[in-house]
Formats: sequence, structure tokens, C-alpha cells
Amino acid sequence: MISEAVTVDQGARLRADICIVGAGAAGISMALHLSGRGLSVLLLEAGHLGRDKATQALYAGEVADEHLHSPPDKYRLRQFGGSTAIWGGRCMPFDPLDFQQRGAVPFSGWPIGYDDLASFYPEANTLSEAGRFEYDADSVFGPGARPMIQGFDSPVVRTNSIERFSCPTNFATRYHGRLALASDVRVLLGANCTGIRLQPNGGSVRELEVATLSGRRFTVQARSIVIATGGLEVARLLLASRDVVPAGVGNENDVVGRYYQCHIAGNVGLLTVHGSPDRVRHGYEISPDGIYCRRRLSLTAEAQRRLGVGNMVARLHFPRIADPSHRNGVLSGLFMARRLISYEYGKRLEAGAQGSLRNHALHLRNILLDSVDTTGFLWHWITRRTLAERKFPSVILRNRSNRFSLEVHSEQMPQPQSRVTLGDGVDALGLPPLCVDWRYCARDIESVRVTLDAFAAEFAQSGVASFEYDRDTLEQDLTRYGAYGGHHTGTTRMGTDPRTSVVDANCKVHSVDNLFVAGSAAFATSSQANPTLTLIALSLRLADHLARRGTQAPMPADKAGIAA
Ligand SMILES: Cc1cc2nc3c(=O)[nH]c(=O)nc-3n(C[C@H](O)[C@H](O)[C@H](O)COP(=O)(O)OP(=O)(O)OC[C@H]3O[C@@H](n4cnc5c(N)ncnc54)[C@H](O)[C@@H]3O)c2cc1C
Repeated sequence: MISEAVTVDQGARLRADICIVGAGAAGISMALHLSGRGLSVLLLEAGHLGRDKATQALYAGEVADEHLHSPPDKYRLRQFGGSTAIWGGRCMPFDPLDFQQRGAVPFSGWPIGYDDLASFYPEANTLSEAGRFEYDADSVFGPGARPMIQGFDSPVVRTNSIERFSCPTNFATRYHGRLALASDVRVLLGANCTGIRLQPNGGSVRELEVATLSGRRFTVQARSIVIATGGLEVARLLLASRDVVPAGVGNENDVVGRYYQCHIAGNVGLLTVHGSPDRVRHGYEISPDGIYCRRRLSLTAEAQRRLGVGNMVARLHFPRIADPSHRNGVLSGLFMARRLISYEYGKRLEAGAQGSLRNHALHLRNILLDSVDTTGFLWHWITRRTLAERKFPSVILRNRSNRFSLEVHSEQMPQPQSRVTLGDGVDALGLPPLCVDWRYCARDIESVRVTLDAFAAEFAQSGVASFEYDRDTLEQDLTRYGAYGGHHTGTTRMGTDPRTSVVDANCKVHSVDNLFVAGSAAFATSSQANPTLTLIALSLRLADHLARRGTQAPMPADKAGIAA
């Protein structure tokens, strides 16, 4: 059942076995998984179907350095479905080594292993509409399929791991019907959780406070409460709820909001593959189950350990779009149209010094000289992306030169100094805004450098290709656009030690019996992988845990200590 929170009586107290706050990928996946398990589920969602300016404004906040991190109301959406209304749909699981303790990655080691999530990944794939849970090109396309780079066979560099693409599925529109029909799930839209109120001893949640922007206020009690408000907002809600624990819920050890990670990403260097262009597969392939897939380069787990680096992948990419020396009409067209593209996707097309009048003239010349390819691309984009239900994932260009840059996507080292805190003032509902102070460290850059050097050595050894890049500009190349947006990770990280973690192996806040976190805030480390598939798998695992906890868990006593 789905309804608006304004229909709830002023001052009412709602009850459910499980209350989930936030209907993004994590919250919706949990609600669907819990439906039919004999429990009542209440799903509180701040937003509505589609965007609403006043609701999105509740995400506004500060950043310590806007060059390093976008403002917090960008790269996330406060609406039913959350950021799946804007995500790119790239899916791949974490690797087994991501969960392990690694000497090269400080604070690494999850209290769960890959095997604990393995049985939930296929359902996460299904919910994301990314097809079968198969991420090895040999098993997806068969061992006889053409390799990524013909003749390149390395014991150190893998070329057969793939990423799969969701439609990209908007979880609100896709699962609206199922949620509306579920008699055991009640979804309330426009329901902003404004506070987590603990029992006087701080050991469990007494109730949640909820408000609408129109001024309606009510409370919720539940046996289990899940905060699924996204990687940044989970920390904000915990920190802002400080009536019993002055530092904020779960923050006895000053860990909430720390270890904030994104990904380190950028376009680097020049890979030249010798021979004809058909020796290389750099674009999308369609799997037998109809999913766009793409191959990547990565180091084997053994090589990562030996070289002492974090996890990283690289895709074969085109040259920097802002620089017109690529002479490509399609890229120049994209550059000229960058202001028409949403902030989140246009940001990486920003020109900086390359936005001069002269460069604009050169881009225009590229478009005119390359008009046949540019028109062909436009036709392809309109038919295969704009009008298609399953969208062609990104711009891919025919590459006649066999020269590519590498699009790097690397794990970020967790560090306590990289953090979110509460800023000054309050929003329209009385909550302090977020202040984001994202930091990277020298080790992040060094890890990418060592990995790229290993790629270069293996290409040289094979004689099939060569790779070179400028060490002096590597840091600039990787931080030009700041933190990779949208992958908000680690702010209430999982662990066994409350001095360096906020939740345990079951995503339960260490110090609070009935409070759980769903989403990438609970990740201990960030992996090479985009977060959504794994956060869905982790949420499904949490849903199973809560279903087992079921009605055995007590309903909280009210303020006067009377059990409900
Ligand atoms: C431009 C962009 C591209 C991306 N591309 C990819 C990609 O290709 N692959 C990938 O894996 N990931 C990608 N991501 C990341 C992906 O979108 C997120 O990982 C995912 O959507 C997070 O889901 P979530 O449910 O944890 O959080 P959210 O999507 O943030 O959902 C949280 C929900 O909680 C609600 N909420 C917030 N506060 C409250 C409150 N106080 N009370 C009640 N409700 C509240 C919000 O309205 C929202 O609906 C991308 C993100 C962006 C921005």
C-alpha cells in the first residue's frame, strides 16, 4: 500500500514489526524481500514520485572544498526510488579480496566475507535488471569468444572480468506496482524522519520522529528499525539525533561520519594496441540474456597483494573530451552541449582552462569536418538510448587509431580524517545540514601508479601493446573533478571494533539493540566496484536477518516505560 504521509493523523503513533527509513535501492529491495514473511513493514520515504524542489532542498549542505567534492544536494536525489532515478546502472560484485584484511589498505577487513553475500547477489542482479549473476566473459560469451585484446595473455592482468548494465532501472517506477499491491508493506511518501529517539539508557530506539513539509508530525515504533537513507544521510540522521547520547546515536566513539570514501577516478595515459582495430574490444557487447556488458582491465588478487595496492579497474576510453586535439566531431559535440547535460553527468565535461574561445572554435571545426560520423552517432543515440527501454549505457566511439586513454576507477583508502559532520543552521524541518570534508591521501595516488606501472610492464612484455602516462600529472588527472560522485561509502562502516566501526556484521549499530543501517554507509572498504549491486545484496542479507529476528524482538516501551 502506498499513500502520502499527510494522510496520517497529527500526533499519531504508528507501529510495525519493521520500519525502514528511505525508499531507495536499499529500502525498496528490503521491503520487497520482507513481503510475505508474516511481518508488518513500514517504509518511510521523504520524497514523492518525481522531483520536488522543496524536498530536494533538504539535502543542501556545505563542502570543505568544492573542488574536491560536489555540494551534498548533487549526486543524490531525495525522492521515491532515491538516486536510482539518475544512476548509470553499472553493476558488478565486489571481489572476495575486498572483504579481506590487506596490508596495503589501512582499516581493511570486513567482519563478513564474500561467501556471506554470495547467495544474495543473484537476487540483487534480478532486482537491478542486470540479467544473470555472471561476471566472467568466458562464462558469459563462451571460451571461444574474441578476447578484449587479441594476443594479450598475462598472468598478472585480467581482461575477462565484465560489468553488466541495468536498464538503468528506476526502483520507484519499476517496483511501485508491487509495493502498492503488498498488503503487509505500507509505504508513506513525504515522510521525513527527523529524529531517532533512544530509550533513556541509550540501548535501544524508543521511537522515530517523522514530519512532512506541510507541518504534519507523528511518531513510529518498531521492533527493528533500518536507516536506509543513503551513504551520506545515514550519518546525518545519527549525528543529528543527540538527545540521549550528546555526540549522536551510535557515535560514542566519534566514528559516525568518519572513513568517508568515494572512488578515485580519471582518464590517464595512452594505450596503443599494435595492429588493426578489430584486435580490440573496447565497447559494449550484448550477453545471451540481452544485457549490455563491458570488459575491464584489472590486476589479479595475487598481484594486488604482492604489489601492495588497492583494488582498481580500467576501461579503454577515448581522449579527454575538453581537449579539441582529439579531432572527433562526436566528442566536440558533447563538449559543446555540456551545459544541457545534468550536473552529475556534465561535471566531467567541465573545460577549465580549455574553455577558451579558440578551443570552442576548434571544437566547432571538429564537428563540421566530422559531420558524417556525428550524424550517425546522433541517430544511434536517439534510437538506442533516448527511445530505448534498455538504454545503450554510454558514448562509445569507433576507434580507428587503436589509441585509448585508460578510464581508472580505483578503491579509496579508508581514513578517519575524511569525514562528514553537521554544519551550522537548520533545514526547513529543523535538522542541521551536512558538512562534507572528503579527503584523499598520497597512498591513493601511489596505489594507482603502481597498478598502471604493472599494466605498462605486462603490455610491453606481451609485445601486443604499449602504455605510457605522465607520472607528474597523475594526481591532477585523478583529482581533476574531485571525488567520484554518487558512491558515498563508509560513514557508518561495518566492523567488530566500536573504536573504528559503527555497525556489526549484521549491520546493527553496536550500541543500539534494534537499530540497523542498510546501504553503502555500512561498507568497510570501497572496492573497485560501483556500490549498488553490493549494497542491495547486503540489504537482502539484512532483511533475512530481520525476518529471523521477526516478532521475537520486543516492541519498544514508550516514554513512561510501558511496553506497547
Ligand atoms: C549520477 C549517478 C550515477 C550513478 N551510477 C551508478 C552506477 O552506474 N552503478 C552503481 O552501482 N551506482 C551508481 N550510482 C550510485 C547509486 O545511485 C547509489 O549507490 C544508490 O542509488 C544508493 O541507494 P540507497 O538506497 O542506498 O540510497 P538513496 O538512493 O540515496 O536512497 C535513500 C532514500 O532515502 C530517502 N531519505 C533520505 N533522508 C530521509 C529521511 N530523513 N526520511 C525518510 N527518507 C529519507 C531519500 O529520499 C531516498 O529515497 C550513481 C549515482 C549517481 C548520483
